[in-house]
Amino acid sequence: MNIHEHQAKEIFRKYGVPTPRGFVAFKPENAVKAAQQLGGDLDVWVVKAQIHAGGRGKAGGVKLARSTEEVGLIAKQMLGSKLVTHQTGPEGKVVHRIYIEEGVNIEKEFYLGMVLDRSLEMPVMMASSEGGVEIEEVAARSPEKIIKVAINPTIGFQGFHGRKLAFGLGLPRELVNKFISFAQAIYNVYMDYDANLIEINPLVLTKEGKFIALDAKMSFDDNALYRQPEILAMRDLTEEEPTEIEAAKYGLSYVKLDGNVGCMVNGAGLAMATMDIIKHEGGRPANFLDVGGGASAETVAKGFEIILRDPNVKSIFVNIFGGIVRCDRVANGIIEATKATQVNVPVVVRLDGTNAEEAAEILNNSGIKQLIAATDLKDGARKAVEAAERGLA
Ligand code: ADP
Ligand code: MG
Repeated sequence: MNIHEHQAKEIFRKYGVPTPRGFVAFKPENAVKAAQQLGGDLDVWVVKAQIHAGGRGKAGGVKLARSTEEVGLIAKQMLGSKLVTHQTGPEGKVVHRIYIEEGVNIEKEFYLGMVLDRSLEMPVMMASSEGGVEIEEVAARSPEKIIKVAINPTIGFQGFHGRKLAFGLGLPRELVNKFISFAQAIYNVYMDYDANLIEINPLVLTKEGKFIALDAKMSFDDNALYRQPEILAMRDLTEEEPTEIEAAKYGLSYVKLDGNVGCMVNGAGLAMATMDIIKHEGGRPANFLDVGGGASAETVAKGFEIILRDPNVKSIFVNIFGGIVRCDRVANGIIEATKATQVNVPVVVRLDGTNAEEAAEILNNSGIKQLIAATDLKDGARKAVEAAERGLA
């Protein structure tokens, strides 16, 4: 799960990580009030679009205002507009809230990030003197400018971790301890909130000699959300794929992708294998969908409905292994669901396991023309890919 910049900064403040003062606003008039509250005599206010994507600065989502009136004008323009950044995809994201912040006198921009390194099985903290630019770019162009330390969580963040980063950044002696306290606090936030990513780009050194988190991005381990009520309360559903939210309500794990072969599978492992084999056959999966162990007529119908909401879907591959659930029941479920839902694309069905033969007979005698029976996984994938190219006969 992701949260907004203003929420991440709220958390930072609790841990003593310095951030610019700011207020969130959902309406232009509140943006002006926020600017006044920050101080009517500031030189610069910054208005920042709150969307779950970076690259806002270059796309017009971070704007400077010289007066509280100008804050209002920018707010009016920004709220409700669509922002297209290199991270949103071409469809962009609608700005529903903005953050009004005091302007900071920037001396230098750094990068500080923390992620879980799965191969090292440890969180890793990264810093770079090349702040403000995309870290992926720095990694490609001059990887030596990124300093990394792996932190064993049983030992925790130690002075030597901080010094390695600070010296690597070439900080002058009087800034080293300030930087280490900053990094220590970020480590504490990361661990306490079960984060799997913190990115501060830029972390700035102000003209007054202070380190401040000017931007803040945080993502969390979904499996730990049950013990993070504070984070769960920050969830913004307008930032998430609506079909994925609805699928979750019915106990279906659905992830939208950009291909044209819809997939309905029971079990996450088989669902992953199904996507792989569709690719292997030269096709592109439109989604990941795990209907779970049950696969009743109802869940199958809901699955069809959700898959077909994606206009790119040109065929559906139903791949169900009857272990707990009997194939004949699934076959009847598919027939019922095809009748109930307006399924207007070919549906390739591969059922294997308990009562697979009865199931094949039921499907073959159904008289529903869009149903295509498959003998095995490979055959099913091939037929689904072909059907997607060909469309309904
Ligand atoms: P994004 O990463 O989405 O582009 P940032 O929050 O990093 O958004 O802002 C982009 C740039 O805007 C920063 O690199 C910084 O130069 C400037 N900026 C952002 N917030 C402030 C602020 N409070 N004061 C001064 N400049 C800012
Ligand atoms: Mg940034």
